[in-house]
Amino acid sequence: MFIVFDIGGTNTRVAGSVDGKTLGEVVIYPTPQDYSDGIQALAETAKRLAANTPITAIAGGVPGPMDLSHTQILKAPNMKDWNNKPLQQDLQQLLNTTVRLENDTAMWALAEAHTGAGKGKNIVVYITVSTGVGGTRIVNGQIDKSAFGFEIGHHTINPSGPICGCGGVGHLEAYIGGNAMEKRYNKKPKDITDEAVWEDATAFLAIGLLNTCVFWSPHIIILGGSMMKSFSMERVLASTKSLNYIVDTLPEIQRSILGESGGLIGALHFLSQTPEQAVKK
Ligand SMILES: [Zn+2]
Repeated sequence: MFIVFDIGGTNTRVAGSVDGKTLGEVVIYPTPQDYSDGIQALAETAKRLAANTPITAIAGGVPGPMDLSHTQILKAPNMKDWNNKPLQQDLQQLLNTTVRLENDTAMWALAEAHTGAGKGKNIVVYITVSTGVGGTRIVNGQIDKSAFGFEIGHHTINPSGPICGCGGVGHLEAYIGGNAMEKRYNKKPKDITDEAVWEDATAFLAIGLLNTCVFWSPHIIILGGSMMKSFSMERVLASTKSLNYIVDTLPEIQRSILGESGGLIGALHFLSQTPEQAVKK
């Protein structure tokens, strides 16, 4: 039995897989803010799903940047008690098996590249627009190599723009991240009906997309995350196209088709690759 999980700022998802390819029942519960409660809940759920069969290996996605050896979360903005705790070591002790951790967006990107909208494409970029903004580049089915992970939500769009949740100025996330928009407009983004607000946000998303195209040169960009429900793809595409003066043909840009368990599907793909294969050398 394999166990995969996806720890989000709001909910945690856990599932078992007998063959390492298909997901069994997906258990969803609110992510405990307290770290000890969180790892206990995860371990108990994993044990229940395994139902007395041995657990071969576990992999899961975590929000926020990790340390270089991928053993702990360093800076999850919405789960402060989880930061700098020995997550991998604690889970391995509680469950007595190997646990591999990766950034949640990278897990999702793997799923997109193998079974989602990026299937068959060599260079796949997945961008999530949610409470924050993240993105990962997949090359030939593997997470692209990086020195400190990918943080495209924190590239500067406007040097005199608003302060970002990370403390920087005028970052993409400060314009289109859910938390940033809620602060700016004083209501949940899903309740914002003013078209002008979304036109404005679309213009900034388009800048982020064009920058991603010229920096990462992907064959396809796939957009996911709860905030994307509020954007018109037609407008996003037109706006991105209007900014392009350099690339002959922009890559395909489309919505994620994976549904809510993309992170778990990605974790299964991650487990099917050895640690050496999982990240491109
Ligand atoms: Zn930032």
